[in-house]
Amino acid sequence: MQLPREVIVGKGTLSRIPEVVKRLDLKGKALVMSDPLCYKIAGKPVSDFLEQSGLSVEFLQVKTMTITDVLAVEEQIKALQPQVLFGVGGGTVIDSAKVSSGKLKIPFISVPTTVSHDGIASPLASIKGSDKPFSVLSQAPLAIIADTQVISEGPWRFVVSGCGDIISKYTAVKDWQLAHMENGEYYGGYAASLALMSAKLVTENAELIVYRQDEGLRVLLEALISCGVAMSIAGSSRPCSGSEHLFSHALDIISAKHAMHGEQCGVGTILTAYLQKSNWQRIKITLKQIGAPTTAAELGIENADVVRALEMAAKIRPERYTILHKLNLNAEACKKTAKATGIIN
Ligand SMILES: [Zn+2]
Repeated sequence: MQLPREVIVGKGTLSRIPEVVKRLDLKGKALVMSDPLCYKIAGKPVSDFLEQSGLSVEFLQVKTMTITDVLAVEEQIKALQPQVLFGVGGGTVIDSAKVSSGKLKIPFISVPTTVSHDGIASPLASIKGSDKPFSVLSQAPLAIIADTQVISEGPWRFVVSGCGDIISKYTAVKDWQLAHMENGEYYGGYAASLALMSAKLVTENAELIVYRQDEGLRVLLEALISCGVAMSIAGSSRPCSGSEHLFSHALDIISAKHAMHGEQCGVGTILTAYLQKSNWQRIKITLKQIGAPTTAAELGIENADVVRALEMAAKIRPERYTILHKLNLNAEACKKTAKATGIIN
């Protein structure tokens, strides 16, 4: 089990990098990975604070996260030989830093500039163009330094997406319980409780988040980090990813103009909760309250794509048993589900 040793969340936390460097006894060369925009808003201050702490700093630019990119980044890291890697940015940058540091056995520190999904603190990463269209196990960050000031300056849509990803834990945990009961799969109550607590916290604090209060953003960040920890404890994405995630992965494959991960997972949660005979209406109301999409039109996709994605979802990961595997819905049943929940008309 790998868990972060330092988690620092709040306004202006980037300035606390020198004390983190001291506590973790970081020495030698640090490599800061970022994209051009995130470098300006956070990568540069991170580099400056690292230099102030006596480390030498190199910078590596990351833009996309394909298999070719991962290999190229690895080669560059091998040449630079850093002692620690800082991933400063959104999902792509963090995942890139996570995967390459994990492979080269270098500690990795996560400095998220967005809150669009729970990958900022998890040991899992997704690589585009690989044979697995879902996240795979890599390494957990040694530390997470999240500055709410930096994050609040980003697009609001990222916050909405992060909320959708958190709310999806309601159905993910239910799918995990189902796999445990019907297939005897390992089930960790502690990891499941952490994921559920995160979903509950975001639901209860939806109003704070909507009014863009710093406290609301903190709740969301802590929920995303708790989910990352839940996955570290479980050793897989099980507590945080069920049918609703498979639905989102299927949409990514089907539609080139797909929406954001958390937005799609939110809609997937409504569909899954309906199939699990849970209170899907409550999930829909919470998503609406946050301003997240709850229909195909709001996701910007065709009605037919929703039906196709729901039908395809279980086939993406046959080994991950969920309510979709149990029910094995045909196209007609998928359409009925999407209509009954108002996702399509
Ligand atoms: Zn997710």
